[in-house]
Amino acid sequence: MKKTKLFLSLFVLATFLFIGCNSDENQDQVQEEVSPDVAAKLQAAYFDTSSAKVTTFMGEEGVAVEDMFFTFAQIDELGEGSNIPNTEHYRTTNLVTGLPRTITVSVSPDLGTLGSNALDVAINMYNNLGSQLTFQRVAFGGKGRNKANIEVTEFYELESGGFITLGRAAGFPTRKGDPAKGFGINSRWFELSIAPTVNELAGTMAHEIGHCIGFRHTDYQTRESCGQNVNEGSAGVGAIYIPGTPTGSDPNSIMQSCGPAITFNNNDKNAMLTLY
Ligand SMILES: [Zn+2]
Repeated sequence: MKKTKLFLSLFVLATFLFIGCNSDENQDQVQEEVSPDVAAKLQAAYFDTSSAKVTTFMGEEGVAVEDMFFTFAQIDELGEGSNIPNTEHYRTTNLVTGLPRTITVSVSPDLGTLGSNALDVAINMYNNLGSQLTFQRVAFGGKGRNKANIEVTEFYELESGGFITLGRAAGFPTRKGDPAKGFGINSRWFELSIAPTVNELAGTMAHEIGHCIGFRHTDYQTRESCGQNVNEGSAGVGAIYIPGTPTGSDPNSIMQSCGPAITFNNNDKNAMLTLY
């Protein structure tokens, strides 16, 4: 896996993706460039808008940027970045509240047995940490009270600009203290020679769950794991240093922008237990 430079959670180098013909079948939906106004708001929050697109995701219209999706209302709440801490593990301003709490999670059958098995692994990864958040698998497609707190859905998106987005989280925790409503997994990944194993997919799911409950990228300052040098900034969602985590580089954190970790390292565990 690492030999292929599979960047879990976000991107895969397209060098490895010259597969099949360029049939470029119809996309699920037309994707448009973001308006200058919206781009400015995202840039003010230090998101990398170079591949940002207006799109529909999990039933709502908004913008896909990095491995996140924000509705326009959420973008409006992204304020100017404040002072950016010069350290490594970060959380958003809003966290899941009401501890101890059980978070239900479901996965679309569109992701198949692989998706189902991977979610079980990801749930166990979190539950084994012993935090006050317990994750529980429930059936997909429930309505009302039976609707999972975090739904895992399928989307299909081709490689672009040398990268493929593996997963995409629907924002960060809400002001009310609930997790983001879910995340998507790009089934295009499954078609490639670097198609994930159960544990690799579970690693990406654990990363996206991390966003849903308030973790920003460990390397948000530099996105060094993606071979980039940009600053994601503190955003309106905040980028608050988590005490007890390292101040140096932490390339094996599962919350790196572009992997390659697929399991929690000790700093990830400490960060989780500090918050929850
Ligand atoms: Zn991410």
